[in-house]
Amino acid sequence: MAVETSKQVIPGAFSGTALRGDFPVFDRPTGSGQRLVYLDAAASSPKPRTVIDTMADAYGHHYANVHRGIYELSEDATRRFEQARKAVAGFIGAPSEREIVFVRNATEAINLVAYSWGRTNVHSGDLVVTTQLEHHANIVPWQQLTREVGAELAYVGLTDDGQLNLDDFEAAIARGPRLVCVSAVSNALGTINPVAELTAKAHAAGALVLLDIAQAAPHMPVDVSAIGCDFAVLSGHKMLGPSGIGALWGRRELLDAMPPFMTGGNMILRVTLEGAEWNTVPQKFEAGTPAIVEAIGLGAAIGYLNALGMASVREHERYLFEHAWAALHEIEGVRLLGPGDPAIHAGVISMDIEGIHPHDVATVFDSLGVAVRAGHHCAQPVMDRYGLPATTRASFYVYNDLDDVTALTDAVRACQRLFGGA
Ligand code: PMP
Repeated sequence: MAVETSKQVIPGAFSGTALRGDFPVFDRPTGSGQRLVYLDAAASSPKPRTVIDTMADAYGHHYANVHRGIYELSEDATRRFEQARKAVAGFIGAPSEREIVFVRNATEAINLVAYSWGRTNVHSGDLVVTTQLEHHANIVPWQQLTREVGAELAYVGLTDDGQLNLDDFEAAIARGPRLVCVSAVSNALGTINPVAELTAKAHAAGALVLLDIAQAAPHMPVDVSAIGCDFAVLSGHKMLGPSGIGALWGRRELLDAMPPFMTGGNMILRVTLEGAEWNTVPQKFEAGTPAIVEAIGLGAAIGYLNALGMASVREHERYLFEHAWAALHEIEGVRLLGPGDPAIHAGVISMDIEGIHPHDVATVFDSLGVAVRAGHHCAQPVMDRYGLPATTRASFYVYNDLDDVTALTDAVRACQRLFGGA
């Protein structure tokens, strides 16, 4: 497939080229003096002006501690903070904003579940299931939990084209796990997992399901109620919001029954010298002063994404993915990982360029203004599965366009010329 380099409007309701005007980072020349071609949204996304301005305004005119002050300014800050919680709930289809717990990031959300729900409900001899496709954040907390309580951790393996091995999955859930932990979209390969189907099967086997939606929520419609899962975790910084804020969603009855993860101020109803009584959910899990302005910034990011429409975001990235995959596929010496079928492959392309270390690739790309991630993407078991120490990963978002796809393929060829490859 030929890659067109015109400023044509990509299907979906918006133009990535035009949206770049909303992101101040694209005003900045790169070190090499070239236009910045940002292809690393999977690590963290740039922030649109509306998020930056909303946060500056919140700090400037609406800032006080939340849930404490009996004065108008504090009530104003609390209102804005709670509106952000409502925005997160609406964005992921949670039945109630009371089920949204603000945390720092997806990693903290998973640890919260592993410590609070896990240490209460997983016992010696029990089974927890995760997959070889996960980010380390959805592996290591389960390794720690199962080791500590004497439970077993089983992994669902991967097919050669980067999908979950469904036979493995069936075999694992047939053993009656307490919990199944799986990502909706892989950060390392871009695979979109059939999470509604997996959830239904896990439930039928009596397991709860934790979904890692850190790479799904920013890029496609996600409805946790429709999927039917029990917990879901996300990070604000991957979805146009600030770093330092993320969310855990959990079904109310589960959150109500779980002990607090951290204790201290805000999470209590009453403290005496003898003990303490916990606050209700979600405050029970939000000890101490939260990331107030970061939450408000996340709310603004959600407003921006909602205005674009998540179905359009998905369509936009799917179009870029199809063009990039086809163009890269034609380049000799480039090995592409993952399914490649746009129906089950998000806007993340992991590749190996024969004979060139990904760190060298990324350095050459950088000299051309193209920012990609080189490394194991915090998914070393995925790298092990495909016999690679690292890959070069390009990931698309709303501000990318076909010129960025061309910049990527040009950079691959430039790299091969430089290293005398294919
Ligand atoms: N899960 C997935 C699928 C991810 O891509 C990431 C971040 N790369 C995480 C979890 C962890 O996110 P954070 O570092 O924001 O906690």
